[in-house]
Amino acid sequence: MHPIDGRFCFTQDLLINIYMYKPLLALVAAALLFASCHHTAPQEPIRLQGQAQGTFYSIVYYDSLSRDFQPQIDSILHAFDQVASLWVDSSELQRLNRNETDVLSPMIADLFEKSSDICRYTDSAFNIFIGPLVTAWGFSFKEREELSPQRIAQLMTYTHGRWQINQNAQGQKILAKEYPQMQADFNAIAQGYTVDRIAQWLSRQGIQNYLVDVGGEVIARGAKPDGTPWKVGIERPAEDKDAAPQVELTIALRDCSVVTSGSYRKYYEKDGTRYSHTIDPATGHPVSHTLLSVSVIDPDSWRADALATAFMVMGLDKALQFIESHPQNPAVFFIYHQDGQYKTLATPEFSKLIIQ
Ligand code: AMP
Ligand code: MG
Repeated sequence: MHPIDGRFCFTQDLLINIYMYKPLLALVAAALLFASCHHTAPQEPIRLQGQAQGTFYSIVYYDSLSRDFQPQIDSILHAFDQVASLWVDSSELQRLNRNETDVLSPMIADLFEKSSDICRYTDSAFNIFIGPLVTAWGFSFKEREELSPQRIAQLMTYTHGRWQINQNAQGQKILAKEYPQMQADFNAIAQGYTVDRIAQWLSRQGIQNYLVDVGGEVIARGAKPDGTPWKVGIERPAEDKDAAPQVELTIALRDCSVVTSGSYRKYYEKDGTRYSHTIDPATGHPVSHTLLSVSVIDPDSWRADALATAFMVMGLDKALQFIESHPQNPAVFFIYHQDGQYKTLATPEFSKLIIQ
């Protein structure tokens, strides 16, 4: 493990990032934090961790009954993969994408309905049928294609194809797509959606104070035993995707989710150009503006996740216009480059949550 700054360890409950050894960091941070305040804590935190969705998860909760929920959490994660993972060949999503079925289970119908709302809300900056473009640009299982403008235009037709959810005679929900080549990709909300499901499940068990992190998408409920809110660190984007994570700032999070999307961890370089895994549905190309990361706060993690991706697509100026023109403004934090300089910008609602 890379060296960890002592101050960081004692002041953070979690560092948000999308990097492999983040959960180790978070765990060390949490361990030190709880060790340091042991004398005031009425009960020990229970910590669960593991791998899911190509990343790590980490969960901290307080339970007066000291129940170990590891098997149940693993089965929630497994169930999600069986439905909506692109990496499980037999998943419902893959079967829909291959047009082997058009019937939607309740979970995938919910994912499509939520995605449809955000697609409309963001004027298609977030677009769930981005799949063929993501694959063609080399961010899925296949090598990047040699992409002509005609090929990109063709793939964009599939991304912007019409689709709707109908009901069949048996009352089942059915996906109707304009083109059979249309392929859905839930990667931009999968982790946020999973965080919500875990959080809802914990709440149903009567757990009131917990922090759930799947791949850097975090939800906090309640508070720590001394009544102080959970603290979450926002990562400073690194120049190099393999660099050790550093904290840009720390926020207090109570009954809310914070999700970060960035262009600095998942990208590849070809002929001196950096290609980000966020694709602009309006151009069919990976985004290439100077926004390094966007962190969004919302009561629902899936929504924060979807909006963070949409803001990465829009870029700083359009995202700011969007936030100003929507009355229910989310709290957002941007990290970007301008004139070669590293800059940050927090909306007023976000600024209120910064503790250091
Ligand atoms: P995130 O890290 O949450 O921003 O999600 C990025 C992932 O979402 C990418 O790896 C793609 O699989 C997918 N994606 C890329 N561009 C878009 C987009 N414009 N709308 C929806 N999903 C996208
Ligand atoms: Mg997202």
